[in-house]
This record gives sequence, structure tokens and C-alpha cells, in this order.
Amino acid sequence: QNDLLSATGTTVFTVMSALATQHGAINLGQGFPDYEGPEDVVRAAADALLDSRNQYPPLTGLPELRRAVAEANRRFYGLSVDPEAEVVVTSGATEAITASLMAVLNPGDEVVLLEPLYDIYLPVVKLLGAVPRIVRLSPPKWELPRAELAAAFGPKTKAILLNTPMNPAGKVFTAAELAFIAELCQRHDTYAVCDEVYEHLTFDGWKHIPLMTLPGMRERCMRIGSAGKTFSLTGWKVGYITCDRSLAPNVAKAHQNLTFTTPPNLQRAVAVGLSKDDAYFAGLSESLQERRDFLAAGLAKLGFTLLPCQGSYFITADFTPLGFAGDDVAFCRHLTEVAKVTAVPVSAFYAGADAPRHFIRFAFCKRLEVLEEALRRLSAWK
Ligand code: PMP
Ligand code: GLN
Repeated sequence: QNDLLSATGTTVFTVMSALATQHGAINLGQGFPDYEGPEDVVRAAADALLDSRNQYPPLTGLPELRRAVAEANRRFYGLSVDPEAEVVVTSGATEAITASLMAVLNPGDEVVLLEPLYDIYLPVVKLLGAVPRIVRLSPPKWELPRAELAAAFGPKTKAILLNTPMNPAGKVFTAAELAFIAELCQRHDTYAVCDEVYEHLTFDGWKHIPLMTLPGMRERCMRIGSAGKTFSLTGWKVGYITCDRSLAPNVAKAHQNLTFTTPPNLQRAVAVGLSKDDAYFAGLSESLQERRDFLAAGLAKLGFTLLPCQGSYFITADFTPLGFAGDDVAFCRHLTEVAKVTAVPVSAFYAGADAPRHFIRFAFCKRLEVLEEALRRLSAWK
């Protein structure tokens, strides 16, 4: 058996979802919408299945999806992308992250990671034989500790893995923070793997800025998107990487050795989705913002302290004011078993033993009436 995998626990999302099911709890833990994605996109996938789109598509993705990804880069960020040579379609952002890292890392290379971190980052970096250098953001505002970040870059640094909008923190990196990161990447001649799966889910006027759009970063970034998040279809697992033509052949080879291709009917449907009008993309974040506000107001009324949330599916709550005697894991277990509402302990997103133990993450990508019922249960429990 692989020692690293034996030492890796089952992901917190699976653990908490199973616990929610066991106790009949409302699952505000795992980040998946409890409603369907756009009907035209789903229908396009169904039609493609019946239209003989069932054999291996091209290695780097269906041409129509690569064109749609390139066009979305132009439309949303003004990036000029060659769909033939600078886009690779993958089986979810999960594969895209692994393929991007695999494309540039050799054993012993260092990768800068920001904590709290999404669960797969650390195991994947280690499985590739690379060495993580973790820098911790400071709550409640999740500020970037610039001196520490600069100190984490050195001669062995090959890449930074940056997630904005950030899971679980809900942070959207500012132009100034991105400029600081870009300067470090250039000074140390490193790549940046940019996990931007929540690119279209930002609130209160916050705009997502891809690191790739900053001066000097076009050739260094592998920018990752996910149809799961952009079309509220998380089970689809269609991801896409945009990167410079000098990087794409190696990214494609990593993809070739991981999954080789991605179901063609889903690719065709995602191409339809990416061509939807601006109103669709605006509506996506507006409707999520409304539910974020609803949940946040209810939780605040119950005594939780809410941390800022500028984007993603998630809001973090500090339960200290509730006076619970126990850590975040115990609190989430208690909430599931007694209140019948499930959240995720934020310490699960930390590598070190000295993680904060008073934060829990709620997913608000659920129907309003479900959030309403969750708040009712929480107030009855309190
Ligand atoms: N990155 C982040 C930050 C995520 O939250 C998720 C999934 N929720 C992924 C990557 C994986 O995306 P996909 O389902 O497309 O593999
Ligand atoms: N990304 C989702 C979350 O953060 C879950 C993905 C998964 O279950 N692996 O909740």
C-alpha cells in the first residue's frame, strides 16, 4: 500500500455527509447545490448522448468546448487564448489541479500553499514527491501575511497553488494581493496553479481577478475552471485549464496519463453553458448572495459571529459566543446529532495540529426553504 494514502483520512465532506444522512440532518456541510443546473445545459447533455456522442473525444477536449473556454476568457477577463493550443479539458477541477501540478513538478520541488487549504492540495503535492511550504492566512479577515509569504519563496520553489475565491474562507483576493503574489512568482521564476472554480460566484460587487491577467503572469499561470460550480452541476466533473502554449503539451500529457478524456456529451453541454448570456452569470451570484445573506442573518441572530464572505459557496462562523465546551469537530458532531443540521469543521482545512478550533463552515448553495428549516432547527436546539 502507498504510505501517503494509508495516512490520508477519508475526506471531511464524505464523513460529514454520511453523518448527516445517519441523523436525518440538513446537510450544509458538503458544497453541492440541492437544485438542478440550467435546463438547457442539462438537455444539451441528454441530446448529445442520443446523438452518438459516446466514444472517446479528442485528448485535449472537444473543439467546441475549447473554443467556448477561450471565448469565456476573452469575454470575462480580456484574455486572448488560442483554443487549439492553450486549453485542456479535464475530468473536473480536481483532475485539473493534479494535472497542472504534475505538468511542472519534479520530486523535491517546493510548492507554496495558503492555509486554510482545500482538502486535495496537500496529498496531491506530496504524492508527486514535492515539498509543501504552507503559509497561513489570518482570520477573521483572512489577511495575507506578506512577509511570511515572501519568506516561503526560495530557490527550490517551483509553483504557488492559489485558490480565489477561496474555499473554505470565502475570501476573494484583491488586486494588490495578487500583484504581490505575481511579483514573487516573477522574482523567483515560478509557476502558479490557479484554482478559480468559484470565479463566477462573487458578492457585494467583489470581482474575481485571475492572476493570469496580471503583467508578466500570462506564461506562468495554469488557470482552472469547473463546470460543476459555474452551472450548479457538481456531479458532472468537467474542468478546464487555460495556460500558455509552452505549458499546454505537458499539461495534456499529465491529463493523458490520468484520465485521457472526459465524457463528450458533458463537454458539449458545458460549451452550451459557457455561451449563456451575461444575465445568467449575474443571476448566479445574485441568487447565491441572497441565500448567503439569509443564512448569515439567521446565524448572527442565534449568536454566531460571521466571518466576511466575498465569494464561493461557503460562510465561516465562529461559535465561541455560544459557549460550547469542545472543539469544532465536536461542535459539528453535536449540531448534526442534536440540532439535525450539518456543517464542516474548519480545522479540517489545516495541515498543522495548531489549527483554529472555533470555526465551522456552512454551505449556503441550498434552496431558501432548506436554509429556513435549518435555521428553525438551530433556534429550537438553542
Ligand atoms: N477546488 C475547490 C476549491 C473546490 O471547492 C472544488 C470542489 N468543490 C474543486 C476544486 C473540485 O472541483 P470539481 O468538482 O470540478 O473537481
Ligand atoms: N468542494 C466541495 C466542498 O468543499 C466538496 C467536494 C468533495 O466532496 N470532495 O464542500
